[in-house]
Amino acid sequence: MKALVYQGPGKKSWTDVPQPVLLNPSDAIVRVDTTTICGTDLHILKGDVPAVQEGRILGHEGVGTVTEVGSGVHDLAVGDRVIISCIKSCGHCINCRSGLYSHCLGEEGVAGIGWVFGHLIDGTQAEYVRVPYADNSLYKMPDGSSTPRRSCFRTFCPRDLKSASRPAE
Ligand SMILES: [Zn+2]
Ligand SMILES: [Zn+2]
Repeated sequence: MKALVYQGPGKKSWTDVPQPVLLNPSDAIVRVDTTTICGTDLHILKGDVPAVQEGRILGHEGVGTVTEVGSGVHDLAVGDRVIISCIKSCGHCINCRSGLYSHCLGEEGVAGIGWVFGHLIDGTQAEYVRVPYADNSLYKMPDGSSTPRRSCFRTFCPRDLKSASRPAE
């Protein structure tokens, strides 16, 4: 598949990379239908985010279609249209249970850091992406909304809801 790959400060390439595969039972594979370029990506491309290593597929926002689910995924099925949150959430750790998803202690990426896509694991500026903790990190889109309208939600809602506030009890 094709993906936008970080190649070090000031360098990137749109290139062929291996298709992602399920690594854990809670994973899903999502075909990316639309994605964005975020201001954060510009900082990464300049080399301002040293945790992003050469070879990393960039992108942490997207709308897509589930193409594969792991054996531990219960709330999603192949064909579901979903918003991909920039923030992982395992749903089980004390921080997730407290609504502090941006500090999820799940081991994917780094424990305690919620923003993993295009940062600590491969991201969404690609034809397909592997999503860990899929039941909690993907949001099914309601029927009837257009893809552009869905696209407006893909960054603001997950980021702001998960990073800046606690959900209502
Ligand atoms: Zn962003
Ligand atoms: Zn968690």
